[in-house]
Amino acid sequence: MYCITDDGDIQKIYDGKELAEAVLNTIEWYKKDNEKLTHQNKMMHDHAKEVVKHEYEKEIKYLNERLALSYGEFASKKEKDAYDDFERRHMHDRIESKYNGGRAPYLIPTGTGIGTILHVKCPICGAEENITDTEMW
Ligand SMILES: [Zn+2]
Repeated sequence: MYCITDDGDIQKIYDGKELAEAVLNTIEWYKKDNEKLTHQNKMMHDHAKEVVKHEYEKEIKYLNERLALSYGEFASKKEKDAYDDFERRHMHDRIESKYNGGRAPYLIPTGTGIGTILHVKCPICGAEENITDTEMW
C-alpha cells in the first residue's frame, strides 16, 4: 500500500506481516555476515599463528647455530664445562707441558640422525666420558 506524505512524497506502507518479514530477513542477513566474518577472522588468526611459529623456529635455529659457533666444537656451555671439568680431573703430570703441546683430552664426535654424541678421552689414562648435551638436540 502506498500513501502521499505531507511533503507530497509517495511512501510505501508495510503491513504487519511484510514488516515482520523484512525484520527477519535483515536479522538473517546480519547473522550470515557475522558467521562469514567469524570464519575469516579464524582463518587470519590461524595464519598469523603459523607465521609467528615459523619465525620463532627460524630464530631459535639461528640462535642455536650462533651458540654452537660460540662454543667451538661444543654444542653448548654445558658441554664445554663438562670438558673443562674432565680436563681438570685428568691433569696427571702434564700441567707444565699443557701449553706447549701437552696431551690434552681429545674429543670423539659421533654423528647420529638426531645429533652429535660427544665423548672426551684422556690420552694418558684412557678414561672416556660422554659429555653430550642432549638438550641441544
Ligand atoms: Zn686421565
